[in-house]
Amino acid sequence: MQYPTIIRKNFGWYKRKFGILLENLKPHQKNILLENPLLRDSAKSDQFLLVLFKVYEMERKFKPKKKVYKNPFTEEITDYYTVQLKSKYIDWNCAICDSDLQSEIGLFDMDNLLCDDCHEVHKTAPLVDERILHSSLKFRKFCQKLLKKQQRKFISYIRKSTSLNH
Ligand SMILES: [Zn+2]
Repeated sequence: MQYPTIIRKNFGWYKRKFGILLENLKPHQKNILLENPLLRDSAKSDQFLLVLFKVYEMERKFKPKKKVYKNPFTEEITDYYTVQLKSKYIDWNCAICDSDLQSEIGLFDMDNLLCDDCHEVHKTAPLVDERILHSSLKFRKFCQKLLKKQQRKFISYIRKSTSLNH
């Protein structure tokens, strides 16, 4: 992180907080000053402010990576980026060779239900292989079930949280 220069001025029309010029601070650094009236005394120390900015910056940078999330589709506990990546995908098997793959929920095309090798072979076939049709149907049913399960979960969650308020 590049440390900002803390400039203090007690005169003129400059926008400032605790006598510190705001214009050469980053937006989040400005907000720290503007939203924390309790900093009035500590803000007299440049060193304190720079450490505070640094801590805040590290928080912002590392928070999403460190925090763990429950992936609603696979029920795994993973970090944020993995959830983002995988939330649309579930474990499935290639319709032809049965190898493991990740299929995108709600997509029933051939390339979503075949591994790369089998897709390469089957994409130019004049007739769609029965196994692919079967897998597509199975995948459709699976996605519908998943959706219903999630809706039920959501409804029971809403019920629970509203009954707590009574
Ligand atoms: Zn395959």
